[in-house]
Amino acid sequence: MDDDDKTIILCNRVSDSPVPGIDNCTKEKCLKCSAEVWISPATKRIQEEKKADIVCGPCAAPEFLEAVNRSPWFGDDRHKVEITPSQIEEINAQIRRDVLKN
Ligand SMILES: [Zn+2]
Repeated sequence: MDDDDKTIILCNRVSDSPVPGIDNCTKEKCLKCSAEVWISPATKRIQEEKKADIVCGPCAAPEFLEAVNRSPWFGDDRHKVEITPSQIEEINAQIRRDVLKN
């Protein structure tokens, strides 16, 4: 696996969102700047599976822009921006709770 194949997971900085959007998030550190970031349970599993790097939004932005620039629709075969079914399920669960609250 060379450097271009690595998986990067973009996480929200704790300083930007003191309350995580998803339940049961834990804190990790950005690989690049060591800022504290939130990671959801589903994302944590993916990180462990893929040995992915955790990167905060501001640090990840240049790499995502590069991927988008290579292909107008979120990357080519080597640079993908993905969301997994388990992550979508977490987001859906959170939206359902938010709707019930209001
Ligand atoms: Zn960072």
